[in-house]
Amino acid sequence: MPERRTVALVTLGCARNEVDSEELAGRLEADGWDLVEDAADADVAVVNTCGFVDAAKKDSVDALLEANDLKGHGRTQAVVAVGCMAERYGKDLAEALPEADGVLGFDDYADISDRLQTILSGGIHAAHTPRDRRKLLPISPAERQESAAGVALPGHAPVDLPDGLAPASGPRAPLRRRLDGAPVASVKLASGCDRRCSFCAIPSFRGSFISRRPSDVLNETRWLAEQGVKEIMLVSENNTSYGKDLGDIRLLESLLPELAEVDGLERVRVSYLQPAEMRPGLIDVLTSTPKVAPYFDLSFQHSAPDVLRAMRRFGDTDRFLELLDTIRAKAPQAGVRSNFIVGFPGETEADLAELERFLNGARLDAIGVFGYSDEEGTEAATYDGKLPEDVVAERLARVSRLAEELVSQRAEERLGETVHVLVESIDEDGVYGRGAHQAPETDGQVLLTSGAGLSIGRMVEAKVVGTEGVDLVAEPLDGALSCSEEAGR
Ligand code: SF4
Repeated sequence: MPERRTVALVTLGCARNEVDSEELAGRLEADGWDLVEDAADADVAVVNTCGFVDAAKKDSVDALLEANDLKGHGRTQAVVAVGCMAERYGKDLAEALPEADGVLGFDDYADISDRLQTILSGGIHAAHTPRDRRKLLPISPAERQESAAGVALPGHAPVDLPDGLAPASGPRAPLRRRLDGAPVASVKLASGCDRRCSFCAIPSFRGSFISRRPSDVLNETRWLAEQGVKEIMLVSENNTSYGKDLGDIRLLESLLPELAEVDGLERVRVSYLQPAEMRPGLIDVLTSTPKVAPYFDLSFQHSAPDVLRAMRRFGDTDRFLELLDTIRAKAPQAGVRSNFIVGFPGETEADLAELERFLNGARLDAIGVFGYSDEEGTEAATYDGKLPEDVVAERLARVSRLAEELVSQRAEERLGETVHVLVESIDEDGVYGRGAHQAPETDGQVLLTSGAGLSIGRMVEAKVVGTEGVDLVAEPLDGALSCSEEAGR
């Protein structure tokens, strides 16, 4: 019997990439590959790269080089790049990085097993020439679903098995294999983006916005709950647009209560909301549906009107503050996080002060700050008024300091609150989890003062008794919650 082929997936970037890695893992396992955790134990190390900004690209290249160092010492024979950076640069990346034995784009995902086998056998896979993926689907959102069959959409793999293979009852298995046993998992709601933010290159390689069918999202969620997942996070480039290509721009409002009713699930979280597309009905559902976290991942990016217009975005400080007031009037404990870019071309000292005014008034739970840098192929890269690198760095440091101070203050405001904590890790450092206002990876966490009787995946009601920067320290109240109606609160 031939020796089994082994493969490891190393995932960089955001939660969308994690979903894509689990889809690739599902495809590879279905084709007989053994998945291993450690790249050193794998015949092929597949690095799922991020192509967002320079720092993310550098991390991806470092991971590829690290995997390449394993070759010749043990089992690892090939290193393959997939993911956003691989899609975005294709053959240019292959030329610049000969250490990678293969560079695969999204169009290769359906045949990932064959591609890896070719590369492992010493064959050559010619990397693709990158193309603008927005052109793969019709301009009119209403026509996109019909054309989607011929377009590779990572994370949208069909949920139904072919006839004859599907189980007679219960959730049908998606083309996905969990790569860890974490009680939280992301689920793709849609892909791509129709917005035209002048600084962002992502739509050119992730394509136009297209929603997944609600039945696929529900079936995958049921399957994840069967695997022991307690919290799902809905991800896409823009969740507020969900349903616009399915004839119902309010589809998220009807889907969320259905997801919240999936057996075994304790919490549903929505990420990536566009402030310009927020609507009263969506705020209502996010703040009033049992098990749906009142959590608002609002991508503000700036608050000075002139900078926002140059970014091709909408809004201003006062409108954003009003939006936050509306949310908190309905759910005072709601969590809010956002990202910001400082040092954008043309940003003045007065613009920066306006952003600081917003940050001081917004009481955000988590803040990501990035210094502007040119991304090739974007409109902003062609702008006049670029600020010198040292000015961008100084503004980044200044706003980052303020952000750190403000999220610590916001954490202190939560002293005395009752939070519902999903336990995610128990080790010698303590028992850690996250409350409804904290998303995985990007936000703070909660340290529980006692782990008695707790296990990973339990939902615990706890009182906030201390803070450590953005993180909370909380004391479990009597009895752990399980399947509580209140879990998302
Ligand atoms: S979607 Fe964006 S952040 Fe996520 S992996 Fe791709 S480039 Fe990176």
